[in-house]
Amino acid sequence: MLTVAEASLAIADAMPAIDVQTIPLADAPRRILRQVVTAERDQPPFDRVTMDGIAINFAAWENGARAFNIQGIQHAGDPVMTLETPANCIEIMTGSVLPKGADCVIAVERLDVQDGVATVEEGYKAKHNQFIHPQGSDYRDGDVILEPGSSLSPMDIAIVASCGLAEVTVNCQPSISVISTGNELIPPGAPIEPHQVRLSNGPALVAMLVGHGFSEATHEHIEDDPERLRNRLSGLLSGNDVLILSGGVSMGKADFVPGVLASLDVEVVFHKISQRPGKPMWFGIGPNKQTVFALPGNPVSSLVCCRQYVLPALFQTSGHTKQKTEMVALAEDIQFNADLTCFQPVRLGADPNGIISAVPVKTNTSGDFAALSGTDGYVELARQQNEFAAGTVVPLHRWKMP
Ligand code: AMP
Ligand code: MG
Repeated sequence: MLTVAEASLAIADAMPAIDVQTIPLADAPRRILRQVVTAERDQPPFDRVTMDGIAINFAAWENGARAFNIQGIQHAGDPVMTLETPANCIEIMTGSVLPKGADCVIAVERLDVQDGVATVEEGYKAKHNQFIHPQGSDYRDGDVILEPGSSLSPMDIAIVASCGLAEVTVNCQPSISVISTGNELIPPGAPIEPHQVRLSNGPALVAMLVGHGFSEATHEHIEDDPERLRNRLSGLLSGNDVLILSGGVSMGKADFVPGVLASLDVEVVFHKISQRPGKPMWFGIGPNKQTVFALPGNPVSSLVCCRQYVLPALFQTSGHTKQKTEMVALAEDIQFNADLTCFQPVRLGADPNGIISAVPVKTNTSGDFAALSGTDGYVELARQQNEFAAGTVVPLHRWKMP
């Protein structure tokens, strides 16, 4: 049986590198950036005015001028104007170019404008270069603004757009098939008998994948019948890069998944990890390098294994290079009496000083997925240690990866 770290490494070794593609910026949110993005121009591209008001020559102000003849208006988007004399001002709007000859902006709230003259309120103190965002003060033409290797956030999209790129190079989407196994499972909306169980893992796993930008994930249900399982998995293997199964990997009499996968030449990399929940997890490689994650059916196990192993693997294969482990202190003592790594669901809470810690949320067995609602993720409690005191700092795995 592998440890958690060994299982992660074995998966990382097996993941192929996925191709890149260039797509319209509108389709790029949450895709993984695979190119360097450099500045198209200085930012701001000109000395940018940051207030509605007037632009003046500061030397005139220092010489005592407080009333200025309005020479004209410079709106955002207008070509640059020039102050004809220090006795003049130009009305400027936020976002406009600073007129030539001007080096001070006075906000409209400080002005009395009458008969083409703007008079500044008494006692107002102006400073040289105020309300001017200087050209190139954010970044310079040609600077590297974004490096490849992370998911495109709304802020990144703003940067790509401001660099003038209508298209951007990102990862190709892996095609993913999520398969729920189990004769007892009935999808939502269909009539259900007392002895049957609602199928919830499939929709949850797809939601987790799509929520991380892996939008080409479809779901289907296959019964615990080795022949049917074999036929359908054979088809899905030929049409997908990644298979994620839920259920049928334990020691029960209807747990056909490992045997059927072996009969389809999917080579087992490991079966079982020394962890709870999710110990029976199985992982293998198909004949065309498809990766096959077979997760235990218990809903908590299946979600934890998807977050712990599948998502990082998909990020890696897609060129995400910025994964890092976050640490958090435990808010309460935890006891765990098994020689396994424990993945304990937690809710993050802040004390009155704003210090964040992880509050354990008990699940009533790994079938209790209702308890997961409102949790932020889970903490990883090291194997071979049974007592974890409040304040112990441990790895935090948020459901939502950055
Ligand atoms: P298994 O891993 O197939 O032995 O399933 C373990 C437990 O998880 C059983 O109680 C199943 O009914 C339940 N289970 C398996 N798959 C799902 C699913 N897709 N949705 C909800 N519960 C499931
Ligand atoms: Mg089952």
